[in-house]
Amino acid sequence: MMEQLYAEPVTRIFGIINGIIVRNGKSGSTGIKNMKTKKNIPVIDIDAIGGDFRYSLDIDYATERHCEEYGCDNICRCQTIENAMITSVDIPSIVDVICYKKCDEFTRYCVNRVLTGLKLYDSKNWHIDIQRSYYGEEIESVKLENPKLDEIKAKLRQIKDATTYKEKLFVALKAEYGYILDVLQEYKNFKITNVSPSDIRIGADLHYRKVNQEKSECYKNWNGIVGLCVGNDLRLIDGYHRYSVCKDKKMIKIIASV
Ligand SMILES: [Zn+2]
Repeated sequence: MMEQLYAEPVTRIFGIINGIIVRNGKSGSTGIKNMKTKKNIPVIDIDAIGGDFRYSLDIDYATERHCEEYGCDNICRCQTIENAMITSVDIPSIVDVICYKKCDEFTRYCVNRVLTGLKLYDSKNWHIDIQRSYYGEEIESVKLENPKLDEIKAKLRQIKDATTYKEKLFVALKAEYGYILDVLQEYKNFKITNVSPSDIRIGADLHYRKVNQEKSECYKNWNGIVGLCVGNDLRLIDGYHRYSVCKDKKMIKIIASV
């Protein structure tokens, strides 16, 4: 009975945990234990999303001083921060904080899509904490507000617990669109692959023309996964903005159905 568990030509080495090579055990019980261990190798630090991201954001603010009133000598200690506002959010740098170095590109992409889909770029989701220090006020931290924080943690947990790329991708798509297209359910799994942009078929032509005109500046230097394509004719399902920016490249990376 246990034989069946290993009927598939699975990788012999399950992974290296704390310097110990974990192998596909010969005895059934060890094998199952190792399989669980493999699944649980953490690639995402979920709690990290609750941390301080002030270095992943651009913040605009004015300062005010009332040195005479406060009696500052040559060093000002009275500066206050006024109207602090987040002007941009660097989502890839937040992904770098959440995903460990060993995290695979597919998972990293799904985390990026979840953060984008749940609108982390919107300043309304962030709380700027201003503290008084010896030299006047300074920005102490910028953290995600609840309930957005809980919402993102739940999605990251789903990605972490997913055992296939298909499951991970569906978490990301649901975060962005709220549902999964029927056509996507048909495919067994998804993988990253390199293709020529000219091989990709544009389905929603009107939508594409619209985003093409918008000239998505935010993706100008994009060299990651461009979009999601399905079928042998590589029909573009998601990633129109990125595709419109990357379509003149020789080769692009996409997620394709298997
Ligand atoms: Zn002062």
